[in-house]
Amino acid sequence: MTLSNRYIIGFSEILALRITCTKCKGSLSVSIDRTSHIPERCQMCQDNQLFQSNGAEHNAVLALMDRLVTLRDSKLTTYQIAFEVDQDGS
Ligand SMILES: [Zn+2]
Repeated sequence: MTLSNRYIIGFSEILALRITCTKCKGSLSVSIDRTSHIPERCQMCQDNQLFQSNGAEHNAVLALMDRLVTLRDSKLTTYQIAFEVDQDGS
């Protein structure tokens, strides 16, 4: 039997998305409220292209952030919805 610990994360708890450069392992947090922009290049090493402006992944991240804000700010009265994630990320 395999046991795993899981976390339940409500939308009101989500503050930002963490973007980690696979080249230098530097990371930054981008608020889901889009108060800062998503960098096209890693701001730590300046050597790794992270996103292409208006590329599919860039637009998907922006859409995800907008939808998270919509769900966070909605007035759900008949149900609650949350992420369920493994503690160890597997
Ligand atoms: Zn980097």
